[in-house]
Amino acid sequence: MARPERPQEYYDQIKDKFREQRDLRLGYRPPGTDQYTSDFSGGLAKYAIDPYAKDVPNREPISDEVEVLFIGGGFSALLTSARLRERGLESIRIVERGSDVGGTWYWNRYPGAACDVVSYDYLPLLDELDYVPVNHYSRGPEIFSHCQSIARKYNLYDLAVFNTTVTETRWDEAEQLWHVQTDQGDAMRAQFVICANGTLAKPKLSAIAGMESFAGHSFHTSRWDYDYTGEHLEQLKDKVVGIIGTGASAVQIVPELAKTAKEVFVFQRTPSSIDVRDDWPTDPNWARKLKPGWQQKRREKVLAAVENSLEKRAAKGATSPEEKLRKQENANIDYMMRIHRRIDQIVADPATADALKPWYMFMCKRPCFHNDYLPSFNLPNVHLVDTKGQGITQISTKGPVFDGKEYPLDLLVYATGFEVQQTGIYNDIVGEGGVNLQDKYAHGIRTLLGIHTAGFPNLFIMGGYQASFQFNLTEMLQTQGDHIAACIDYVRANGHHTLDVKDAAEEWWVQNVIEHRGKTSRSEECTPGYYNFEGNEQRRQDGNYNGGFRRYFEHQGQVRDKMEENFHLAAKRT
Ligand code: NDP
Repeated sequence: MARPERPQEYYDQIKDKFREQRDLRLGYRPPGTDQYTSDFSGGLAKYAIDPYAKDVPNREPISDEVEVLFIGGGFSALLTSARLRERGLESIRIVERGSDVGGTWYWNRYPGAACDVVSYDYLPLLDELDYVPVNHYSRGPEIFSHCQSIARKYNLYDLAVFNTTVTETRWDEAEQLWHVQTDQGDAMRAQFVICANGTLAKPKLSAIAGMESFAGHSFHTSRWDYDYTGEHLEQLKDKVVGIIGTGASAVQIVPELAKTAKEVFVFQRTPSSIDVRDDWPTDPNWARKLKPGWQQKRREKVLAAVENSLEKRAAKGATSPEEKLRKQENANIDYMMRIHRRIDQIVADPATADALKPWYMFMCKRPCFHNDYLPSFNLPNVHLVDTKGQGITQISTKGPVFDGKEYPLDLLVYATGFEVQQTGIYNDIVGEGGVNLQDKYAHGIRTLLGIHTAGFPNLFIMGGYQASFQFNLTEMLQTQGDHIAACIDYVRANGHHTLDVKDAAEEWWVQNVIEHRGKTSRSEECTPGYYNFEGNEQRRQDGNYNGGFRRYFEHQGQVRDKMEENFHLAAKRT
């Protein structure tokens, strides 16, 4: 249906309101990303405890050598390992902080956890595992179990080490191996190390005055304490529960709390945009007809679709860049106003409905999809505490305090998110000449494809900055995994021992990232959030590559076509 024509003034007024709401928030939180803490020491140590690791057995420290060592056991490690196995790699070790593989899906077991990307695209290696997901959108337990199936299929449990955090990864120049130390006293060695520590892995808490004094129970969404809540939240029926944050995690949790808890207080700083979630069970007739290799074909179609839309856009070349931007912005505003109307249709109380309306451009924050979140606010036991952009700034022994009012709680859940795309989150990475990766990055991130960084031979980074970013993250990670496996294969097949990116190749990519990030001021215009570094000024190279996924994928292939040109490759020194 054609959109009704509206005068440009209509859109400009809405953009003014977006600006006003952004400025209000920036005014409340000058510290930017520093408003959060993920230093869980002292009084905050309990927030780091893994509630899923029960009866962890003691083990002797390990001091052996493997060919490939992964730091982290989520999709990055699993996807790359599958490709390495296909290429004949035998000694592969995953070192993982949790007590199993799964990464995000190991940690995020909160009630209602599910993925917003269509399961047939999100769940990787479906051809290889001959598996068809149960629903159009997968729930958390199915995804976690799929991760375990991948680890079993590719024999990744054999050498894996769990409940272990890598603390230092140091290049030993004499041995030309990585020396990997852990919090369990291990001193392992590896020819290749892959930083597979995830894009949103380390939980963060909003640093709120008095939070350590809270006398009730509390935890972060990624450390859900089922001993306290009961497996089906049945132990919350006489409990008053509060949740701080209204991002994608909270949007899935609130409806579950609403069904079971005595009272639920949702402390909101900025509302999420909530659209319909069109889910259904997989049609068995469709599943039966799938031919081997169906997922690969589906992936190829996605890439081709990106290409087609690029061609279409090029064909529209007659439109000026300003006109294109205006049209895109207006379409985004139309989408957000539809989201507003949906809220009015669902939420009965007009004041609550108004407070739930997001005033920012589509995609300034991660869009959410849920059918039960908004209706939860019609239930008598659910209360929205809208802090109008300010957020909770004080917590007493009894609970959060806002506008002079104290909210006494039994349980407080922090749905306050994660550190974003940090390489080596718990781990010091030290390359050639004793250079620490963080020191190298101090004047700006420097990589080739977000994967290789000069002076750190045989080290690969997954899910970090300077790579492309995809809503379907596994698709992006699969291309990185394929690339890394091909690089390692090249080194082995050609009698080399080390691979280190050349400075010129690294510089070419840094400039490529800068060029593509310089094209839009959109991020500055957005309301603060993790997509725009909470409104902090950011060097242009310290973000994702914005040249598009298709182009990122093609660049990977071009880099591999010229291995000798892009990398220093050397045999083992004797
Ligand atoms: P987010 O970082 O998206 O959200 C954090 C929330 O905490 C925001 O609403 C933020 O408000 C709020 N907040 C922070 N400090 C305060 C405060 N002092 N008072 C009140 N509110 C506060 O974290 P999530 O864990 O929700 O999501 C992280 C990402 O994980 C998602 O963006 C998504 O990529 C992924 N994810 C995907 C899911 C899926 O596929 N369905 C499900 C869950 C997560 P403000 O907006 O004002 O900063």
